[in-house]
Amino acid sequence: STLSKRGLGKLKHKANELLSRTLDQQVTLAVTGLSRSGKTAFITSLVNQLINEGNGAKLSFFDPVHNGNFIAAKRVPQKHYHVPRFDYDAAISALTSDPATWPEPTHGISELRLAIRYQPKNSILKYATDMATLTLDITDYPGEWLLDLPMLKQTYQEWSQQTHGLMTSKPRDEYSKSFLAKVAQLDPFAPASEELLAELAQEYTALLQTFRHELGLSVIQPGRFILPGDLAGAPILEFFPFANADNIDANAYQNATDDSVIGMLRSRYSQYQEQVVRKFYREHFLRFDRQIVLADCLKPLNKGKASFADLELAMSMILESYQYGKSGIFSRLFSPKIDKLLFGATKADHVTPEQHGAMVSLLNQLVHQNKNQLNYDAVAVKTLAIAAVKATNSGVSKHQGNEVPVIQGRSLAQSELSGTASVFGEKITVFPGAVPSELPRDNYWQSNSFNFIEFAPLSGLNKHQCLPHVRMDQVLQFLLADKMM
Ligand code: GDP
Repeated sequence: STLSKRGLGKLKHKANELLSRTLDQQVTLAVTGLSRSGKTAFITSLVNQLINEGNGAKLSFFDPVHNGNFIAAKRVPQKHYHVPRFDYDAAISALTSDPATWPEPTHGISELRLAIRYQPKNSILKYATDMATLTLDITDYPGEWLLDLPMLKQTYQEWSQQTHGLMTSKPRDEYSKSFLAKVAQLDPFAPASEELLAELAQEYTALLQTFRHELGLSVIQPGRFILPGDLAGAPILEFFPFANADNIDANAYQNATDDSVIGMLRSRYSQYQEQVVRKFYREHFLRFDRQIVLADCLKPLNKGKASFADLELAMSMILESYQYGKSGIFSRLFSPKIDKLLFGATKADHVTPEQHGAMVSLLNQLVHQNKNQLNYDAVAVKTLAIAAVKATNSGVSKHQGNEVPVIQGRSLAQSELSGTASVFGEKITVFPGAVPSELPRDNYWQSNSFNFIEFAPLSGLNKHQCLPHVRMDQVLQFLLADKMM
């Protein structure tokens, strides 16, 4: 039994291959957050940090890089060909153009796959192979879609009542009057006109857009209406809450056929529950291994009490999706496998660094006021204040003899700042205000004002270098480091 040296080498090579094949790992990372929370910027930065590692990277808190185990990362064809691709190239081009602009946000679900090569140091792999691969599948989807989950346990009537309640109270009431008046004119049992329903559904959708973008509200239902993805224009999105659903005779409602007004609305609602909401959970959500939920707490602080209260409500609705412990209603519907959940308070570069602690505790309170309902036993949870793409520099400025911390960046839009209008691209220096470290109480809103303004990305960024960031290395450490041991 003599094995030639060459034969031995071959055998060892085969064994290495086998081992690395079995120990190569795959992680599906889902990135969500309400629109404008910073998902597109986040994914762009995350990919940029990984593929440019070694080129001006400041990833000191990401062990694989810090310890020199990280070899390289590259984009490879994504897993599901029917899901749109996350357009990294367009996003990085926007950020590195001159003048730099923020990337166009995505409007639905998208995917991107990275192959990350590393040298295993601590695992048994180190005796067998020099290189292992972690395949990272990143899925981006609107947080608004998670707002729909609670609809699964509501009938059309119950949902209508709840939504009607929202639309008749502040601050939505003023804007909703004309729509509600039109719905009140409808005879629920008359034959349905598809055109009329489509028209009213459009009006309802326009209202939701106003709530989101003008009033800065977060509770938008159905979430798919403002971010329809590939369902834009489909009849399944053509329903709306029926204003007086509780005044309708129960028997007549039961017996209403699908071609009556109320019957058609009800049947579209139930199809929406099945074909849109449940389908998303079945086809995507259940496959996620790890999740990052991004939240912009600064804008609602700017907008005031109603906007902030709405964010609180939206967060608790979103968290229902992670409430899959023994007691959770949804544990019976789904059993997701998420083992790590990261909450990111985004745009931390909008405030001075000493405020980051307050940002974290504020978001923590938004999250953990629901904690007793959540079963986090099996899930590791963390909260970080981050900036995916840092657009400001911080420093100190003298103000009336005192040193005050300030940030400096390029103005994104015409805005009124302490009486002086700023012009696009102009360098501005501000003290944006203090972030409350607790959920603000009523009297808080009278005595505090915020001035978190939007900045343009810093100019002179290079796509072959790492984007400036705040704590993206800690994000990577929490989400990926344990898979690269
Ligand atoms: P999405 O709708 O969740 O994909 O949000 P985007 O990623 O498009 O972000 C919305 C806007 O927030 C951007 O256009 C930027 O103005 C701002 N933004 C996002 N991330 C950052 C960040 O890290 N720093 C700063 N200063 N602004 C950010």
